[in-house]
Amino acid sequence: MKLIDLRSDTVTTPTEEMRQAMVAAEVGDDVYGEDPTVNRLQEMSAALLGKEAGLFVPSGTMGNLLSVLSVCNRGDEVIMGNLGHTFLYEAGGISALGGIFAHTLPNQADGSLMLEEIENAIRPDNIHDPITRMVILENTHNRCGGTVLTERYTREVAELAHRNHLHLHLDGARIFNAAAALNIDVKALTEPVDSVTFCLSKGLCAPVGSVVCGTKEFIKKGLRVRKMLGGGMRQAGIIAAAGIFALENMITRLREDHQRATLLAEGLMTVPGIHFEIGMPQSNMVFLSLKEEVIFSAQEVAERLARLGVKVGVVAQRRFRLVTHYWITDKDVDETIRAFRSALSGA
Ligand SMILES: *Cc1c(COP(=O)(O)O)cnc(C)c1O
Repeated sequence: MKLIDLRSDTVTTPTEEMRQAMVAAEVGDDVYGEDPTVNRLQEMSAALLGKEAGLFVPSGTMGNLLSVLSVCNRGDEVIMGNLGHTFLYEAGGISALGGIFAHTLPNQADGSLMLEEIENAIRPDNIHDPITRMVILENTHNRCGGTVLTERYTREVAELAHRNHLHLHLDGARIFNAAAALNIDVKALTEPVDSVTFCLSKGLCAPVGSVVCGTKEFIKKGLRVRKMLGGGMRQAGIIAAAGIFALENMITRLREDHQRATLLAEGLMTVPGIHFEIGMPQSNMVFLSLKEEVIFSAQEVAERLARLGVKVGVVAQRRFRLVTHYWITDKDVDETIRAFRSALSGA
């Protein structure tokens, strides 16, 4: 039985062609700046996102941490969403390692932060206050449901940030999903911001890695911080080659994942006991809940599904997250709907 793993798009393993690209990669010592494949990945990434330079890092978490540490001093403050990845899922790194304060604002249902609330959160120039240095946006927004921030909103936040001399960082772990959902060039979403991190290891299918992009000056600082964090890698071209393959071949197919997420949601809406709080998926994530009358918990349903060969994410007592990706076919979508129907029958 094929296992249908919908827990995340991070479970994507490299394709055969991607593995071949890795085997064939030309490599050198990247700490000396001499790995041609890493250099090429960084240049390609920067060009795609409309930035001066890029930096290959082992994870999105390191990309965000390095971005914050490159801009903020100890005691400085960063404005971010209370449902943001940096606030919730990065082990408090900015505070533990940088002594940096997180000023959280409520994420709206669409993943945005209200402009007025950002404006009000910026500290006055007063010795009692920490110094506000940065704002972080997330696109697509993971916890809010794979929701998409628009170009217009991104520009508005950038204008506000820059008017107040703040650095705007974009956690664009899935920024190519956002661009695919809006059917626009990704540059429209990244040009307004000062720095951006995106993941190669999610929907783009690469085994490891993220890239941070920004100005040359910012990346130069980031290079030192990466070394400090232990992220200086040597013949990293082996994994960067997978990243290049991903940029060349995987971006254009992300829309398929979004279409399958919609199909999955439409199918699951017909299953008794399932409730969609946030409506139809905007990208590759489907969030659903169990109706009150269902006697099982989400965990129990997930265990039943696992026995039927379907793995789903349990994100709350009665809530699931399902993420479509390269290895999920139309048939898998049908199987998943059937499995839910079976797991919930008699409940
Ligand atoms: C996955 C993810 C990251 C980075 O996670 P890593 O596991 O460290 O690569 C950052 N932000 C968001 C929104 C993510 O979904």
